[in-house]
Amino acid sequence: MIKVANSEELEQLLNRLSQDYKIAAPVVKRKGRKERIEYEYIDSPGEITLERQPDSSPKKFFLPQNERMEVEVAGAPGTEDKQKTILFGVRSCDLEALKVLDDVFLDDNYIDAYYQQHRENIIIIGLSCSEGKPSCFCGTLGIDPVKNDSAPIFLYQRGDRYYFKVYDEEYAYLLEDLPEGDEGELAEIVEERAASFAENNFTLDLPVPLPEETTFSAPFWGDLAEKCLGCGVCTYYCPTCYCFGFFWEQGEKSRCWDSCMFASFTKHASGHNPRRSQDQRYRQRVMHKYSYHPENYGRLACTGCGRCLDNCPVNLDIRSVLKTVESYLQEKGGVKSG
Ligand code: SF4
Ligand code: SF4
Repeated sequence: MIKVANSEELEQLLNRLSQDYKIAAPVVKRKGRKERIEYEYIDSPGEITLERQPDSSPKKFFLPQNERMEVEVAGAPGTEDKQKTILFGVRSCDLEALKVLDDVFLDDNYIDAYYQQHRENIIIIGLSCSEGKPSCFCGTLGIDPVKNDSAPIFLYQRGDRYYFKVYDEEYAYLLEDLPEGDEGELAEIVEERAASFAENNFTLDLPVPLPEETTFSAPFWGDLAEKCLGCGVCTYYCPTCYCFGFFWEQGEKSRCWDSCMFASFTKHASGHNPRRSQDQRYRQRVMHKYSYHPENYGRLACTGCGRCLDNCPVNLDIRSVLKTVESYLQEKGGVKSG
């Protein structure tokens, strides 16, 4: 089913939905002299911008950067938030990233009740990308930036027309006020966009998962990670990085994002640190995304969103790292994964 709206109708729709739901969407935020686009709860539809990929991912809605653990009992969920959220305008890279978080937090063997509560409380409306930014490489990793059926509703914007493709009829009631749209018009948009994304000048020929032993023991990690400052910015911006630590303050327990890029991340109470140097930590980050997660869950833990390279203070570019891995494995005779 397709529903269609113009800007005015979209505004009316969001105003009506905001009576029953909290709405979160990409908005422009000013930080000093910088202008950033980030997902935030909104007060009015006029705050929303869909103009480009947000600088931060919507990860914080599912895994808050700081979250108080209300009860000290295994499996106890956090603060009960009865009002559901509609998370509006999530692009393919971030929809695919959620699958990685689901792999870990909704694992068959262990369900994280806090994550599950957030996940069940949020209805996602996806968004088709009309163009990529220079650092995006989702297409190289097999992700389609134009269409994605992993959100129940997926939006295509063209000028003043908003086409909502409903993938899960259970959520069609959200759009009941809108008229039906034309399948042919939407197919045209998809075709145009697919053609504009078809030209991809970043290619990769890597076995997935990366062969653990050969890649781990490769000699290039020291050179590749030489300039890494260990600031952790890449992991905070990454939509798939999920490591966290626990903190106790005045008897209250919280969990907060942590980062494998921090020197203290693996430091034991004895003082021993199994990952002593920054190149070992950087290797861990790449290996986790391209070797360990695919090995464990059959999926890359990188969606090519490009945020780690956009935000790294020393311009460490994961694409060139992957190219180095590719050349090395080819020199080694095209080592197969496993
Ligand atoms: S953002 Fe760049 S410098 Fe900072 S930890 Fe990540 S790779 Fe290293
Ligand atoms: S590793 Fe970089 S490109 Fe890949 S998902 Fe994380 S931030 Fe995006």
